Amino acid sequence: QVSAFETGQKKKTLVILGSGWGSISLLKNLDTTLYNVVVVSPRNYFLFTPLLPSCPTGTVELRSIVEPVRSITRRLPAEVIYLEAEATTIDPVKNVVTIKQSTTVHSGHSGKDTSSSKSTVAEYTGVDEITTQLHYDYLVVGVGAQPSTFGIPGVAEHSTFLKEVNDSVTIRRRLMDVIEAANILPKDDPERKRLLSIVVCGGGPTGVEVAGELQDYIDQDLHKWMPEVAGELSVTLVEALPNVLNMFNTKLVEYTKQVFADTNIRLRTNTMVKQVNDKVVIASHKKDDGSNENVEIPYGVLIWATGNAPRDITRDLISKVDEQKNARRGLLVDDRLLLDGSKNIFALGDCTFTKYAPTAQVAFQEGIFLAEHFSKLSEIESVKHTLSNPSSEDNVDRLTKKLAKLEEKLPIFHYNHQGSLAYIGSERAVADLVWGDWSNVTSGGRFTYLFWRSAYIYMCLSVRNQILVCFDWVKVSLFGRDCSKE
Ligand code: FAD
Ligand code: NAD
Repeated sequence: QVSAFETGQKKKTLVILGSGWGSISLLKNLDTTLYNVVVVSPRNYFLFTPLLPSCPTGTVELRSIVEPVRSITRRLPAEVIYLEAEATTIDPVKNVVTIKQSTTVHSGHSGKDTSSSKSTVAEYTGVDEITTQLHYDYLVVGVGAQPSTFGIPGVAEHSTFLKEVNDSVTIRRRLMDVIEAANILPKDDPERKRLLSIVVCGGGPTGVEVAGELQDYIDQDLHKWMPEVAGELSVTLVEALPNVLNMFNTKLVEYTKQVFADTNIRLRTNTMVKQVNDKVVIASHKKDDGSNENVEIPYGVLIWATGNAPRDITRDLISKVDEQKNARRGLLVDDRLLLDGSKNIFALGDCTFTKYAPTAQVAFQEGIFLAEHFSKLSEIESVKHTLSNPSSEDNVDRLTKKLAKLEEKLPIFHYNHQGSLAYIGSERAVADLVWGDWSNVTSGGRFTYLFWRSAYIYMCLSVRNQILVCFDWVKVSLFGRDCSKE
């Protein structure tokens, strides 16, 4: 392919928002020599979310599952500019994105900052924030989603999400806080029982995995360090629907329920949380006869994992494009990930609403697709440029045909589902795997757990992450997990 430089054509500016699964996959697969690439994200690292549920208990260290953006950009064929900032508004008419420098990374839930430290730009520069504007020729929106609360009163104030690094730190601190506080109280004090109750709301894979990890920690380690308290700790998983892990095969759902029952994780299905205060979760439980009763579940730690909601920047973009007016759960895109109603904005991953589930697997494949798509777009632009300034040697007819062919042959995105995996605790995992087009394999148990581990090691973005995660697992199997607050 002829580069823009050789044809005298100015390189186009490609701005990529986000440093998560979608954006980083795009970046790693992009021919960065073809564009001026600028990455904007408030998080200067990629986070390997599948192992995040293992972090609050210390099964895996946080540093083992992050990869700095700059270590990724450094290996790319041409320079990529990274700006640690968040996009606050997008002007799809002027092709301008406004960005704000921010040093706090949060789950992004409106009005709630889950970061552990509140360092702001002000501490370093004396100004509250730095705002600037970037012009783009192409924009890729890969800003992910924020945790959903469905506006349920008290959730944002009293619960902890599990989405970012700081959420894991917060869960760890709260857990250790309540354990140490309960340890001071007499055994028959009802406050002690409340403090030692961990409630996880949402029986999707995030809720199930974190419940399993917490129960493992209690059974395998806390029993050694603080037997008197560990015996009283309880983990309750609250789910509005009749079952957990609804995307998995029913056999695996039953298997998960059995493992939970064997390991004393209390499963409260058909129970929809309606309100949360600082000590109690208030829910409506649908009984077998179809009637509803109100239940109160006291808690010391509340982890909220009920899925995704669009971020403010996503809502802002939706409000600015007429074709997006019916978008409720995310940006609407066509089968080439082009935003409906735009000619130069693309979107991928959890910030979109498509026929695919919001998973890392989908975002990753979309990133690979877009990287290829941008190479093709560059080729098209290059032919268009030559056609608009033909030299005597250029065969205009041949170039026109070539352009038509290139445009017609632009591929569309096809998702290749390889299956779903989830850890369910006590060294067991469930897997719904797809081998080629012809067979599904459903399995649960210890062998699946080993498969789960190897699959996640394989999926890690760098060899450094792979080695560090393996070290963490070996370390935990040799020395166990500690009970410090950090
Ligand atoms: P993200 O990975 O969330 O990245 C979004 C990026 O945008 C971040 O870098 C963020 O800092 C940045 N950003 C946010 N706001 C702005 C802004 N205003 N401007 C610029 N940048 C911004 N999926 C699986 O397939 N398998 C799993 O095992 C799995 N496990 C998971 C475990 C947990 C605990 C969680 C929370 C999710 C898990 N998922 C899993 C889902 C998976 O993580 C998401 O589907 C995936 O991260 C989506 O990728 P994304 O690039 O769209 O968003
Ligand atoms: P989810 O949307 O998969 O599940 C949320 C659950 O919360 C649902 O079962 C829902 O019924 C329940 N819920 C909602 N409101 C409730 C309420 N008020 N009271 C009680 N229960 C309520 O959410 P998630 O687990 O956070 O996952 C988000 C996305 O990330 C999904 O697409 C998931 O597949 C993906 N993910 C995948 C993995 C994996 O593959 N191992 C792990 C984590 C997340």
